Amino acid sequence: MGAKKLAVSWITFACCEDSTIVFVELLNEHFFEWSEKLDFRYCKFLKGRGNSFEGSDVTFVEGAIATKEEEALLRQIREKSKRIVAIGSCACTGLPSAQRNQFDESTRREIMMVIERFGHLEKVHPIKDIVKVDYSVPGCPMDEKLFLSTLEKLFSEFGIG
Ligand code: SF4
Repeated sequence: MGAKKLAVSWITFACCEDSTIVFVELLNEHFFEWSEKLDFRYCKFLKGRGNSFEGSDVTFVEGAIATKEEEALLRQIREKSKRIVAIGSCACTGLPSAQRNQFDESTRREIMMVIERFGHLEKVHPIKDIVKVDYSVPGCPMDEKLFLSTLEKLFSEFGIG
């Protein structure tokens, strides 16, 4: 049996996915180290099949929560993940994805049809409004150094490496 790995998942909600791109760029430098230490469970940008949150030690959550469906999925992810890490400003604070929260009354009326028709929430939320968050990596996109130091903390918390 090989060495124990950290079971990680990555999910993207309402946002532009730039922190995903930052993570993929980090693989240029860290691929060999991380392939020994990380077991990807749900990670659709890396795996076409077998994506599941079951048994995740850590789920990295990028983006804000804009719809009822996203809210329900985030609650399920919390139940299946030992740790949740908010990735990027949209997940940490809601903004910039949550700009519609600041619309004036007449602009809000204009978008109401879309909000109702597509199951959007009244407001767009940072993930901490919905579930407990263990770590946050702010930045737009996420702060690379803080991401790496958070990952190191998680490796040591779970006794990896
Ligand atoms: S925090 Fe910035 S980079 Fe990240 S998803 Fe939101 S808008 Fe995009």
